[in-house]
Amino acid sequence: MPSSSASSASARKTIVALGGTGIGVEVVDATCEVLVGAGFPVDILTPPHAEAAVKSHGAPMPEETQRACREADGVLFGAAGGGASTAVVTWLRWQQTAYAGVRPIKYYTGASSPLAHPEGIDMVILRENSEGLYPGREGELADLTRALPDLADKTGKRVTEFGSGRFAVKVVTRPGVERIARFACRLADRRKGRGGKGKVTCITKSNVLPKSDGFFQQVAEEVVRAHGGLTFEHFHVDDGARRIVRFPQSMDVVLCMNLYGDILSDLAAEVAGGLGMAPSGCFGDRWAYFESVHGSAPDIAGRGIANPTATLLSASMMLDHAGLPAEAARLEAAVARVYRDGKHLTADQGGNGTTKGFAGAVLEALKSG
Ligand code: NAD
Repeated sequence: MPSSSASSASARKTIVALGGTGIGVEVVDATCEVLVGAGFPVDILTPPHAEAAVKSHGAPMPEETQRACREADGVLFGAAGGGASTAVVTWLRWQQTAYAGVRPIKYYTGASSPLAHPEGIDMVILRENSEGLYPGREGELADLTRALPDLADKTGKRVTEFGSGRFAVKVVTRPGVERIARFACRLADRRKGRGGKGKVTCITKSNVLPKSDGFFQQVAEEVVRAHGGLTFEHFHVDDGARRIVRFPQSMDVVLCMNLYGDILSDLAAEVAGGLGMAPSGCFGDRWAYFESVHGSAPDIAGRGIANPTATLLSASMMLDHAGLPAEAARLEAAVARVYRDGKHLTADQGGNGTTKGFAGAVLEALKSG
């Protein structure tokens, strides 16, 4: 009937899939096959990007690709690995001000955690994506010396005393901390509604960097306490790293400054089962895209053995964000079932399965579940 077909057509979501490079291409292809094979109401576009787009359009993110991403209901990215593919993630993340890196860390029964008792690990590393040290503001010490000749460290040693060398700048602003701390509160609230602990754990090195990291800690605490209804705690990054390994089940939303979040999300991923299992979503105020935490893995690229779990779970986050929560939950449940069955696990999980074999098993689980 015209009315029902119109309504089902309008319920379909448009997804842009950008593989990037290396295993990114393999895991995004495998994930798209699952989404289509499962009959999810999605239309997948694969506009030109990275090296191929440089050859065909003279730019790694041509205007038509940028427009497709802006207009899509969901954007799924594979991995960058230098060159043109890095320009793609630069556009997706920094040029779109995707300031909140949401990196769920969850143990699935059957996954290869190095811990004896990984059951119940369920946290999110929330990485501030736009400030801190990570975006890379570097230069020659001579320039810094000219601009700030009196700049001295805690021992009184002035920057002029170092001679030649390089420097990097760490930036922390009140608006930047407030928006990521508010994001942390919303995330912790949402998780609390689903049985989470209602806790924000802030990670800095405020004992050594009181003006920058200490400011982040202070503003984050102000925001979380003013929000109310959540527990706030703070650990220095070295202690925080230890706690993520020793007491992972005690963590809920772990709010990290940019570089600390980059490092701790790999650490936490490994604790729960491995980097190949860690998904992410990067959010701005009116923008989001989804990608695995891992990179292009040149050591295994092209061999068809990459674990597609991180990208499948990123796709689940994307479906949820795009307004398909039931499909998102079904996809995650299917991934969990393949881990429980243990027959199609990839080499990083101690199995001998392939990318396509794992994805095929997820599709079978979706069809039979
Ligand atoms: P990596 O994440 O690519 O790989 C680290 C290790 O984990 C490798 O041994 C790799 O084989 C393994 N691994 C990663 N994903 C896996 C998967 N799905 N299945 C099985 N094993 C997996 O990190 P790297 O080697 O440090 O970096 C390689 C390139 O990726 C670099 O150019 C780096 O800049 C880039 N990178 C990109 C992103 C991104 O696109 N967001 C993130 C991290 C690294």
